[in-house]
Amino acid sequence: MEFVTQLGELRDRRAALPGAVGLVPTMGALHQGHAALVEQARRECAHVVVTIFVNPLQFGPSEDFTRYPRRMEEDRELLEGLGVDIVFAPEATEMFPQPPDIIVEPAALGRYFEGDRRPGHFRGVATVVLKLLNAVQPEHAYFGQKDAQQLAIIQRLAFDLNIATKIHACATVREADGLALSSRNVYLSETERHAAPNLVAALREVVTRLGEGESDVTRVLAGARQRLAPLREDYLGVVDPAKFEPLRTAPPGTTLVAIGAAFAGATRLIDNLTVQTPAEREMVKR
Ligand code: AMP
Repeated sequence: MEFVTQLGELRDRRAALPGAVGLVPTMGALHQGHAALVEQARRECAHVVVTIFVNPLQFGPSEDFTRYPRRMEEDRELLEGLGVDIVFAPEATEMFPQPPDIIVEPAALGRYFEGDRRPGHFRGVATVVLKLLNAVQPEHAYFGQKDAQQLAIIQRLAFDLNIATKIHACATVREADGLALSSRNVYLSETERHAAPNLVAALREVVTRLGEGESDVTRVLAGARQRLAPLREDYLGVVDPAKFEPLRTAPPGTTLVAIGAAFAGATRLIDNLTVQTPAEREMVKR
């Protein structure tokens, strides 16, 4: 496995790879969710490139950029064991020798939910993902469903900007009690960790009720909200995954995503679950 920190060297080493390349962009502090992305890339591509970059552009001024977990040695060991060809782990000055003048700004897809709560976040994500795609020029790139709105934006980025890389979505990897794996879970105290699965419990309630044919999203969310305590809600919503706008009514016979963000103490958790609503004749009208 090559460990590379410079863009020039990355370009040379990537050019020397003879077969199809799969890219897995990460911010490091790797866990089994990241490993699942790498394993999928490993199965589907001749070569795998993983990037580790804690992207300053996607953190707000009051967010956890400086204290975001960094564990380069452990990450390298894990990736070596997974058969990764190249790890690209640039310093911020390598990616941004100057503050960028040209940025990628998602519009409607980044308006609500994460985009509303974290102004500038998706601009930072989209700009850096485009830079990484340009630097690596992979045939395939792998992203987690865990960050559903980010995934929708990256799929749209590839479509709108004619990026040839095929974007793959990978299922969310969870702890036994349902909590989605996240690098930020290390922030949780024991009590917070115990409460953290309430977020997925609330989302499961949304999935159950919409799946049973209840179409009034406002009412369904009010019920699901009861499951969150002692977590503090940031948002709960139901969206069409191609739009990411809050829905009041769940249309019959569609695939929707229940999304949520909640605080366990100072730590912000996000999660989502896919739901298929039943055909019209099975919808509950009240
Ligand atoms: P991050 O390092 O948090 O920026 O995440 C890097 C990639 O891993 C993103 O595409 C995430 O969506 C994905 N990811 C993070 N957590 C999980 C998880 N629990 N299951 C699957 N993918 C994940």
